[in-house]
Amino acid sequence: MRSNSEALFARGFARMPGGVNSPVRAFRAVGGNPVFIAKGAGSRIYDVDGNSYLDFLSSWGPMILGHAHPVVVAALIAAAHEGTSFGATTEREVIMAEMLCEAVPSLEKVRLVNSGTEAVMSAVRLARAFTNRDMIIKFDGCYHGHSDSLLVQAGSGVATLGIPDSQGVPLAIAAQTRSLPYNDIPALLSAFAKYDSRIAAVIVEPVAGNMGVVKGSRDFLAAARELTSTNGALLIFDEVITGFRFGYGGYQDIIGITPDITCLGKIIGGGLPVGAFGGKEEIMSLVAPLGGVYQAGTLAGNPLAMAAGIATLELLQEASYQYEDLERKTFGFCQEIQGFFAAKGIAVVINQAGSAFTCFFTEGQSISDFATAKQADTKAYGAFFHRLLANGLYFPPAQFEAAFFSFAHSDADIALALEGVKKAIQSL
Ligand SMILES: *Cc1c(COP(=O)(O)O)cnc(C)c1O
Repeated sequence: MRSNSEALFARGFARMPGGVNSPVRAFRAVGGNPVFIAKGAGSRIYDVDGNSYLDFLSSWGPMILGHAHPVVVAALIAAAHEGTSFGATTEREVIMAEMLCEAVPSLEKVRLVNSGTEAVMSAVRLARAFTNRDMIIKFDGCYHGHSDSLLVQAGSGVATLGIPDSQGVPLAIAAQTRSLPYNDIPALLSAFAKYDSRIAAVIVEPVAGNMGVVKGSRDFLAAARELTSTNGALLIFDEVITGFRFGYGGYQDIIGITPDITCLGKIIGGGLPVGAFGGKEEIMSLVAPLGGVYQAGTLAGNPLAMAAGIATLELLQEASYQYEDLERKTFGFCQEIQGFFAAKGIAVVINQAGSAFTCFFTEGQSISDFATAKQADTKAYGAFFHRLLANGLYFPPAQFEAAFFSFAHSDADIALALEGVKKAIQSL
């Protein structure tokens, strides 16, 4: 029974394009109408009809501690009582900047912004200014937010809706972006052979989350590092999803490859709107007011976002939050459901990295780039999604997205989730 969701969707549809404020929330990729969420607590979310779900969407990544963590809520309440925006600098911004620079190897200085999109958009501007070049290399299926330069062969909702580019992006701007196959070192080599002195930056998700989960191979990321260094271009890691998801800090720490600029978002805001970009002092000193790269924000470094982010990062440093545990649980879960699919004779490839995973409905052997990801049967995924929902599990409402475990998922939750997934698969 979802009559309240249906009624709200009808009202919202009349006043918001597609009834949503972000396209993939509209369930277009899986069919049916969206569920309206009333509240969340720990590993669970509850819809406006009183149905409860174990949450594997994690708000698309940020909620690594689960929903409404009491420590984060207390930090938010305390901050709210002190005023929510001043348009002046506050202590929490300094604390947050220090925490990020301490945790992420490439960061000497950061600028805090309001979203991942803003972080990447500004990082690209900065890279262009620093190199005095225009061209950006990205990879098919990687999503870097919705700024003009990066809506070229993008993943996430763009992949789902089948829009190769967005309307309204001037050709002249899109032409400054080249998109190459992910994990493809020869393609990267030939792009540098062809454009070398025009390339300002290579931007990459070190683990892609927006074509479904696809790991960047170490060799591929090392090649990107090497080629940018030798050709005077910058390497940008978009760690908006990966930052603080696989370990405390960036994925760069885990693979031991240090980019020139890092973009963050999602987890560092603890569920509030946030983003950050940063790098070496030499690069960041080009950002206004020190340098000529303009970037600003009325609500940047907002007290509520800083309070939630700091509380989240502080908790993640505690001994009770072990990323290895989270990874082990996710690995075990994926092994089990792989078995359920096999027993039912359904071909899937499950890509798992740390606490993120995607079940690709494909006969293929492996998924290593957007071309292989796109072979997945999105209709089959849609059917799976709805069977999961009916069994109390909220997965991403699209094939080309990541599902996430949070620290709030208990062993009992996992047992329950396995039961639900098993039933969902048996009913396919
Ligand atoms: C979510 C995401 C973004 C955009 O962040 P928003 O806060 O949605 O603007 C950028 N890059 C990556 C890798 C993301 O996953």
